[in-house]
Amino acid sequence: MGTSIFTEMTELARSTGAVNLGQGVPELPSPGALLKDVAEAVTSGSNQYPPAVGFPALREAVAAHQLRRYGLDYRPQGEVLITTGATEALASAVLALCDPGDEIIAFDPCYDAYAADARLAGARLVAVPLALDGADFVLDVDALRRAVSPRTRVLILNTPHNPTGKVFTADELAVIADVCTQHSLTVITDEVYEHLVYGDARHLTIASLPGMRERTLTISSAGKTFNVTGWKVGWICGPRPLVAAAGAAKQFLTYASGTPYQEALARALDTVDAWAGDLRGVLTRNRDLLSDGLTRAGLLPFHADAGYFLQADVRPWGYADGVEFCRDLPERAGVVAIPTSAFYVSADAPAWLVRFSFCKREESLRMAVDQLIKAQ
Ligand SMILES: *Cc1c(COP(=O)(O)O)cnc(C)c1O
Repeated sequence: MGTSIFTEMTELARSTGAVNLGQGVPELPSPGALLKDVAEAVTSGSNQYPPAVGFPALREAVAAHQLRRYGLDYRPQGEVLITTGATEALASAVLALCDPGDEIIAFDPCYDAYAADARLAGARLVAVPLALDGADFVLDVDALRRAVSPRTRVLILNTPHNPTGKVFTADELAVIADVCTQHSLTVITDEVYEHLVYGDARHLTIASLPGMRERTLTISSAGKTFNVTGWKVGWICGPRPLVAAAGAAKQFLTYASGTPYQEALARALDTVDAWAGDLRGVLTRNRDLLSDGLTRAGLLPFHADAGYFLQADVRPWGYADGVEFCRDLPERAGVVAIPTSAFYVSADAPAWLVRFSFCKREESLRMAVDQLIKAQ
């Protein structure tokens, strides 16, 4: 894998001093009690290897969280595994479940790790593009059914979805569950934005649908929920045999990590609901500010019900290609964005889509919006 458009755009942001709405790195604060608890854990000596499956207190907090929010009952011993971020959870799950030649279905655009993990396992990622419907991204049921082959082993779902901000609906999840049950597929569901859902949208988790718990590994992480993306503490919940398989792969990836973070996060997760409510308020205002600003700048933003990003159609500025738009934008408007085509595995990417991130300080967003409006 060569130098990516991400590296190129980050470098452009650095060299031009443009407002960087490219990367999804939050500029937002973390809970004060959590930061103090980590400092306390470090100075009091919690600095050696944690258990390979994670600290019992954090596994218990994750299990309690799944029960409280989704009515899903997982045993902290055997059905919950703590990982080095959702990134390692995904890699462990894919390596555990897929053999060379297997196929994995995911929805395009998709998080870049999915294709990389498939390659690590010698498997092939078959990407089903989400269809564009007005300002929304929707499941293309026929395309999903067509994508299943005798070699398909796993479907990777990501809801709330990066980069689109789509929250899969109950009807869409029911169709996906039906396809997976019919073809005996295992679902890996990446739910790292589970708490960052705005307005009337509601996050639903596919493991709670009939017949799905036994075939689903649910992945989440502390990074996006608490604005601590550098800590890399994630987790997997699922039925014992699947979690054991992921754990077997995980032991030779990192074995274990993040002792003081795991300790502190166990407490933070118990009170996540109040914290996440405040964070949703900030991110909702940011999304609205950016969406309104993009519209006033003459671009056409899509809906985002969740997460960190807005996609916009840049054709009104005379660009058919988002890559060219993004290369010109720092010079033209002092803003950096990422072409959404970078997140497509299949060849059917709408070339004119561009991703802007809003997990930033309000002043950064205001500056970006003002500059975009002047530059149109
Ligand atoms: C950020 C992100 C991850 C990685 O999470 P970490 O806990 O930082 O490893 C995985 N999936 C999606 C969709 C993400 O946006």
